[in-house]
Amino acid sequence: MTGERCQFGPHLNLFDDGINICQRDAVIHRQSDGTGLISINMLSTSTQHMTDAHLRLLFHRRSLEQQRPLSTVTMAFTVFASLLFVLARSLVAGPAVAVSYRVSCLLLLALLVTGVHRARTTAVFGSLGVAYTLVLVVLIALNISGLQQPLLWALPALLVIPICSAPLWLTPTHFFVGTAIFYASGLPLLFSQSQTHDVNVVAWLWVLIGAPTAAVFHFGFYWFRRDHFLLENRLAQLAATDPLTGLQNRRAFMEQAERRLAALGESAKICAIFVDIDSFKSLNDQFGHAVGDQTLSEVAHVLMDQTMPQDSVSRIGGEEFAVLRRGGLNSALDLAERLRGAVACIARPDGYVTASFGVAEHRVGESIMALLDRADEALLRAKQSGRNRVCAERAIPFDPLQLLTGHLSDPNDPSGAARPRWDDYYLTSHFQPLYSLSHQKQVGFEALLRGEQRDGVLVPPAVLFAPRPLSDEGALDRASHAVHLGNARRLIPDEAWIFLNILPASFVAQGYADQLAAIARAAGLEPDRIVLEILESHGGSVDEMSRAAARYREHGFLIAVDDFGAGQSNLDRLFRIRPDFVKLDGELIRATIPGTQQSILPKLVSLLHQAGMLVVVEGVETTEELILAVESNVDFAQGYLLGRPAAQIAPPDSVNRLIDRSFDVIAQGRAHLHALFEGEVEPYRFALRSAADALLCGVSMEEAFADLAQQELCISCFMLDERGRQIGAEVTGVAGAQPGESMEPVADPRDARWDHRPYFRNAVLLPGVPVTSNPYLSLASGRPCIAVTVAIQSAQMRAVVGTELDWSSPHLPWPASE
Ligand code: GH3
Ligand code: MG
Ligand code: MG
Repeated sequence: MTGERCQFGPHLNLFDDGINICQRDAVIHRQSDGTGLISINMLSTSTQHMTDAHLRLLFHRRSLEQQRPLSTVTMAFTVFASLLFVLARSLVAGPAVAVSYRVSCLLLLALLVTGVHRARTTAVFGSLGVAYTLVLVVLIALNISGLQQPLLWALPALLVIPICSAPLWLTPTHFFVGTAIFYASGLPLLFSQSQTHDVNVVAWLWVLIGAPTAAVFHFGFYWFRRDHFLLENRLAQLAATDPLTGLQNRRAFMEQAERRLAALGESAKICAIFVDIDSFKSLNDQFGHAVGDQTLSEVAHVLMDQTMPQDSVSRIGGEEFAVLRRGGLNSALDLAERLRGAVACIARPDGYVTASFGVAEHRVGESIMALLDRADEALLRAKQSGRNRVCAERAIPFDPLQLLTGHLSDPNDPSGAARPRWDDYYLTSHFQPLYSLSHQKQVGFEALLRGEQRDGVLVPPAVLFAPRPLSDEGALDRASHAVHLGNARRLIPDEAWIFLNILPASFVAQGYADQLAAIARAAGLEPDRIVLEILESHGGSVDEMSRAAARYREHGFLIAVDDFGAGQSNLDRLFRIRPDFVKLDGELIRATIPGTQQSILPKLVSLLHQAGMLVVVEGVETTEELILAVESNVDFAQGYLLGRPAAQIAPPDSVNRLIDRSFDVIAQGRAHLHALFEGEVEPYRFALRSAADALLCGVSMEEAFADLAQQELCISCFMLDERGRQIGAEVTGVAGAQPGESMEPVADPRDARWDHRPYFRNAVLLPGVPVTSNPYLSLASGRPCIAVTVAIQSAQMRAVVGTELDWSSPHLPWPASE
């Protein structure tokens, strides 16, 4: 701080002309550098930052303001009287100085009057007064020249002028100088007359009467003016000061703030800091109001000590204070943080005092009330989020294009990261890689929004995405797109997709497709590199979404549906929006068909592929999950195993190897499974071939299938004609109809048609070769089964014979392919 505080005692020599003035208990700041706030209007002066010299200067300026009109009128009147004087002289006969000289003097006097009218400093005012006096004496001298009784003409003027002008001199110095010059030039004038005793007596009488009378008039009036000024100043100070803390009170603060705002240039910045002591009521309640008052004074001292003389500091009311400071938001936040730290060092009987701070920057055209309201709103958030902290005003929703042209980038960050302020945080992007499993490389990056404090510490997502009253839900969403695109331009390789999350409400918002395309292009990115991931949330009907999707596609954007398999996802929504990508919820990897160990994933992926959608699986965290993703024919994978979201892009080396190993594991597993499956099925193939041979030799079905039916897994044996219609009754195997099974209505398959079954069609394609089906649900038993079938042909007949094997036991190997 550049100023030091001093307490003036009851008797204070304020003016250096030796006059003591009573000024009690005025708390004033003396500044070591001699600068400070001085205003012509006394009431407008900061009562805290004023020195003796400033007060004196203020008094003189104020005197000038008050005296100028009076002086102008008096001097103008004197010009008029001089004119009459000159006219009167021309009525008298006898030799006279040329009238033009005297008229010139009159004109010069008139000129000086207009000068006085415009004088802005006491020095100019005084100089004009002295010049006026001299010209007046010269005029008198010229006018009386050649008269027989000059004294009669000159003496009244010479007596009246110093006495009447005495109160008009602004300072005693002006008075002494002006009066001395007047007499110094007047006396030779008198003594230049014919030297008689009378003239000498008159001259000395003139000096002895005129000079003291003028002095009495001047000082009488001067003291009166000064006492009035000091009283007025004192009253103004009292009216503007909070008696407990000595700070400006609310009214004075508001007046001063309004004036500062009005004087603010276009580019100048000013901020308000609102301060409220935390839990002050409890201090009063527990320890009494005296302790409360003491704390208020201490907080006021801290605020004064930590601020500059140019800052306005005020006790706005109760335990609330306000500071107005020139400069931008960051500097005000720094100050608020310093103040917070300093206040937190003040002891109270049960610990330490703390205070909460709200900071807002003035916006062009805004009133002081509006500025304080915004600071107060920030203060409220500081209170709500735990007290003893500084919160900044909410940021104005930024213009995305401004962000992308670098105007909103953090000037302290040499990387040029897009990092605009949002509430009390800064928005920034983290990117998580998305791998193509077949290509084993990073093909895209999902942009994820992060909030950072000013020092770069991350804000928990719960805080960043907490619902905010009065704020547009989609604003943060839309802001995030500009931030991500601004950062993607710097960080994401040219050939990779950028996945942007978008809320359904933003997605369907009128005109947003065009806007987003413009933002993307401003960021130097073509929309066809951008995949919009429609989030799982309310907002926008399926119809609206599908219409909106068409608009985005026109610009070239790709579309993904996020988190399929969770929340609102349903197939109808998927098939209507027809996204290019479906992102499967991580939980789906772990989901199995109820009652089995079978993963849902392969079936779902197959379904989505058939619908023409690429499949991304999210949340891959373990090698097993990665293997399952590869095995399920998923196209892309994303998850902590493959890469965490980060501010920088990590090289993919180790992940490539990981994916490659998964492929190896699957290939090995598939070979092993195939061998197991084949080993399990082979005896049935052998028995079926024997049965087929017997049937071709004309043996009855009962006999031909007798061996096969006795084997452990055989549910039934059957024969179909060349069109797939069942021939005769089936032969029930040992694993067939078990007690308690209620498939009675479909138990008799005679004349049923089975030509739609893959086991029939595949057998017909490969006559003579026993083929194995994928598992399916047996109608005969209601249990999972597989079929082994073979097409046979003789001169008499063409048929497909087969057997259904019970595949419900979880120990049985499943075929490795679909
Ligand atoms: P919060 O942390 O939410 O700000 O709680 P708080 O207790 O500080 O706030 P609250 O507004 O409930 O209490 C303010 C108290 O300040 C109530 C009033 O009695 C006390 N107060 C107001 N002016 C003065 C004063 O001049 N002197 C003293 N001692 N107490 C005052
Ligand atoms: Mg309060
Ligand atoms: Mg409080």
